[in-house]
Amino acid sequence: PKPLAGRIALVTGAASGIGKAIATRLAAEGACVVIADLDLEKAQAAAAEIGGPDVALGVAANVTDEKAIDAAIQDALLAFGGLDLVVNNAGLSISKPLLETTTADWDLQHDVMAKGSFLVSRAAAKVLIDQKLGGDIVYISSKNSIFAGPNNIAYSATKADQAHQVRLLAAELGDHGIRVNGINPDGVVRGSGIFAGGWGAKRAAVYGVPEEELGKYYAQRTLLKREVLPEHVANAVFVLCSSDLDHTTGLHIPVDAGVAAA
Ligand code: NAD
Repeated sequence: PKPLAGRIALVTGAASGIGKAIATRLAAEGACVVIADLDLEKAQAAAAEIGGPDVALGVAANVTDEKAIDAAIQDALLAFGGLDLVVNNAGLSISKPLLETTTADWDLQHDVMAKGSFLVSRAAAKVLIDQKLGGDIVYISSKNSIFAGPNNIAYSATKADQAHQVRLLAAELGDHGIRVNGINPDGVVRGSGIFAGGWGAKRAAVYGVPEEELGKYYAQRTLLKREVLPEHVANAVFVLCSSDLDHTTGLHIPVDAGVAAA
C-alpha cells in the first residue's frame, strides 16, 4: 500500500501555491485530502485536479471563522470517515516598513496566521484526541520566524507565533500520540500567490532586482544555489508525516536550499 493509504488530511489555503502542492503530494501518497480555502470554486477546482470525490474535496473555509473550520472538519469526517493529518498553510503577507504598518495590517496578519492556525489546531485536536489514533499537525511557518529582515514586522512576528505554537502543542498533545511539527520555507517565488500578488514586487525592490529575476536572486543566495519550489515544501510535509519520522515532534525543517544556514 501507499505510505499514507487510509489517512485523511485537511490542508488550509490549499487552492494555490504551497498548500496545493502539499495536498497533491499527500494524495499521491495515498491520503484523502480536504482542500480548504477562501474561495469555494478555487478549492473545488484544485480538488478536481488532484483526484475524484473519493480522493479530494474542496471546501470554503476562512481560517478566522470558527464555524467554517468546524464545518470543514465535519466535511472531512462525513466524506472520508476521519481526520489524521492537518496542515496549517493558509496565509497572506502584508509586507511594509514599521511606520507604514497599520493596526489593521497587524490585526489581519495575526488573525489569519496566528489566530487562524490556533483555531484550526484546536478544532482538529479535539477530533484527534477523541479518535484516540494519534495524528499529525504541521505548520507552514517560515525562515522569517527566526531571522529578521526589513519591511516585514507583521508577517514575521506572526510566523514566530506559529513556530511557538508548534513547540507548545507538541508538548501538550504528545500524550495523545499527536505529533506537531513545522516547515520553514524561504524564497518560494514561482507558484506562490503571495509573491504574485504584490509581495514579489516589494521584495524585488528591497533587493534591487527585477521582479522576474527574483526566483534566481533567492537561489543564488542559498548554499545549494537552487530555487525552492512548492513541491519541495510538499516533499518535507510528506516526510514529516510518514511513519519513518514517527519519533519526531516539535521540530522545524528548513526548506530553503540552505539560506538560513548560510
Ligand atoms: P499562496 O497565496 O499561493 O497561498 C496561500 C493560500 O492561503 C491562498 O490560496 C489563499 O487564498 C489562502 N488564504 C489566505 N487567507 C486565508 C484565510 N483567512 N482562510 C483560508 N485560506 C486563506 O502563497 P504561498 O506562498 O503558497 O503561501 C502558503 C504558506 O506558505 C503561507 O502561510 C506563507 O506564509 C508560507 N510561506 C511561504 C513562503 C514563500 O516563499 N512563498 C515562505 C515561507 C512561508
